[in-house]
Amino acid sequence: MSAADETFLDLALSRSRVDRLARVRTDDAELGALLDRPQTRVLELRGDAVAVLAGPARLRLRPPREGDAGREPWFLGRDAGVDYVAVTAPRETREGEDPTQEGEDLTWAGLREVGADLDDRDAGLLTAATALRAWHDRHGHCPRCGAATEVVQGGWLRRCPSDGSEHHPRTDPAVIMAVTDPDDRLLLATGLPWPEGRLSVLAGFVEAGESLEAAVAREVEEEVGVQIDGLVYRGNQPWPFPGSLMLAFRARTGQTHLTVQESELRSASWYTRDQLSEGLREGRVTLPSRVSVAHRLIEEWFGGPLPGHGPAVPR
Ligand SMILES: [Zn+2]
Repeated sequence: MSAADETFLDLALSRSRVDRLARVRTDDAELGALLDRPQTRVLELRGDAVAVLAGPARLRLRPPREGDAGREPWFLGRDAGVDYVAVTAPRETREGEDPTQEGEDLTWAGLREVGADLDDRDAGLLTAATALRAWHDRHGHCPRCGAATEVVQGGWLRRCPSDGSEHHPRTDPAVIMAVTDPDDRLLLATGLPWPEGRLSVLAGFVEAGESLEAAVAREVEEEVGVQIDGLVYRGNQPWPFPGSLMLAFRARTGQTHLTVQESELRSASWYTRDQLSEGLREGRVTLPSRVSVAHRLIEEWFGGPLPGHGPAVPR
């Protein structure tokens, strides 16, 4: 297997160094003690944002504070002997609290903005906390009986007090694919709600009872009317906006005529590397950000960092 065929192992949101230590989630004594230890570090989410310190970008993690225990803390895991816990606060509290320390360059930002700039530990912590937040926000009630569910197991389970059913964080698989034609041109499309010039590869959710291969073939056929062959798996990363796991593929097609599905796409075309470079340099084209697997797929086809962008992950 050549280096080019190795899967993406360092996608921005797949990097994680923290041991999730699932056994701690069911150990109430251990969970309860986390916030009593001054060396524990707390990641505070306010809405979707966390405090990020500049140069090099890193999460501002603080020692536990009075009141954290009452905020349903989520246990994120342990790294180098330090336990990491996330707590949430309403987004309005972002201003006015927590004055910056002297000399601190601090901004409030979400995973999309800073995910590619954080180191492996912080990227993993923020990805897990963002995914948990999105799940808790959308799953407050039991899907069986409608009762309000309770958070247990350090944030990794919701239990229904009425029927005892247990609900785990959900992840919805989605496929994303770089499709090339016989001249190695890349298929790029503009989604219906996007501004003109914003381009990406095709993507879509895996349907109930469907394989990944069938989902890729169906999405490409539905969106641009071509049949693919030569499907190659490239890698995956969580995409917790709100709950996807993106599974990335490369695919080829022998057909060049596109029939654009107007209910999903504004436009779609084949691009040569020169055409894409020119569009980027002239500012007519924008691509998905470095944090996305879409960016990485386009970069891989292009053969290196894209004009006007750094590498998809700092290397
Ligand atoms: Zn229930």
